[in-house]
Amino acid sequence: MGYGVAFRADNRPNKYFLEAAIEEVVAANADWFWREWQAGREPPCCLECADIRYQPDRPGVVTELVGAGQVLEDEYASCQSVAAYYAGRERAIAGWNDGSGKYDMRYRVVLVPQRHTNVSSYFHALVEGPNGTQDPTKGMRR
Ligand SMILES: [Zn+2]
Repeated sequence: MGYGVAFRADNRPNKYFLEAAIEEVVAANADWFWREWQAGREPPCCLECADIRYQPDRPGVVTELVGAGQVLEDEYASCQSVAAYYAGRERAIAGWNDGSGKYDMRYRVVLVPQRHTNVSSYFHALVEGPNGTQDPTKGMRR
């Protein structure tokens, strides 16, 4: 049911390219949560509660961006897919609960550079929102 896009560049994509790609997943995830709630289902509030394993990408080699439904099927996710799950739900839930249907666009995924052995471009994905920046991989099993 999902749709995958493989991007195989000769160089490493920059932070802004990746953040834009992740934003597509966050937007799709917000819609996905909305559809699940409309269907009377209650997807896990976060991937820690869903007992999904946090599996970091191989630094600088590949970046997988996986939508919320597929992450729950895969039972593992790397940080950007975890952050996209969390940001998508946060974006959608207030408008679901108050009946306005509005998305809270203050929630988004940001990439922060990591120090990593001889890899120049390696990021960790965090969720930025009105209450600050959070790392939704914290507490997930490895
Ligand atoms: Zn939870």
